[in-house]
Amino acid sequence: MTRFHPDASVGGLGMTSQRARDRLIERLKSEPLRPPIKDPRVLEVMRLMPRHLFIEEALASRAYEDTALPIGLGQTISQPWVVARMTEALLEHGVPSKVLELGTGSGYQAAVLAALVDQVYTVERIEELLRSARRRFRKLGIDNVRSRHEDGRLGWPEHGPFDGIIVTAAAESVDPGLFDQLAEGGTLIAPVGGSAGQDLLRFRKQEGQLKVESLGGVVFVPLLAGVR
Ligand code: SAH
Repeated sequence: MTRFHPDASVGGLGMTSQRARDRLIERLKSEPLRPPIKDPRVLEVMRLMPRHLFIEEALASRAYEDTALPIGLGQTISQPWVVARMTEALLEHGVPSKVLELGTGSGYQAAVLAALVDQVYTVERIEELLRSARRRFRKLGIDNVRSRHEDGRLGWPEHGPFDGIIVTAAAESVDPGLFDQLAEGGTLIAPVGGSAGQDLLRFRKQEGQLKVESLGGVVFVPLLAGVR
């Protein structure tokens, strides 16, 4: 666990950012309107992960608020509670070894996953965002994330099957091709619904069958076609 250099977080915020992260973790454990995050592995990784390095400097002072923030090009870094919940839900039935993420965005979710699983594959359709995310992985010494500039709606079949798949952009449905890339016993988490809000769904593949359950309401930016 924690294959990154938390010390890379210094640069201006330094000590105060650790205190701010500690407060964020307390908040994740007792969000007033949301179920509490309980998995100590997820809480510990997020306690160390420098989220302020995943957003523009102008917004860095808000990095440890439990809110989504803009990362440019109309996209957002997800709310910490949502990252924690999705990660916790992915780990709940056993820590996956190989995970695919669709929608790299800032790279924060991928970085959190990289500290918990063996190998992360992540796909982003906006090249500029992907370049920034890769810079962050390098800076933090994260070497178990492979990333690709592509329309990720159909996954990354060459590297499947994956024990876990996490979709971090919203769509009305999950492409059936993605389920083919899910290993037996694997878990897929995706926000399903329209632009006003989605249901966070968890699918588990057991004996070739998919079981689905709802983890509650979320709001993600849309999964879009093509690259840019
Ligand atoms: N996981 C990100 C937040 C994701 S925001 C983080 O931790 O910061 C959703 C991201 O999905 C955006 O960056 C958007 O460009 C990307 N996206 C949308 N449609 C996509 C597609 N078809 N393939 C790959 N990425 C996509």
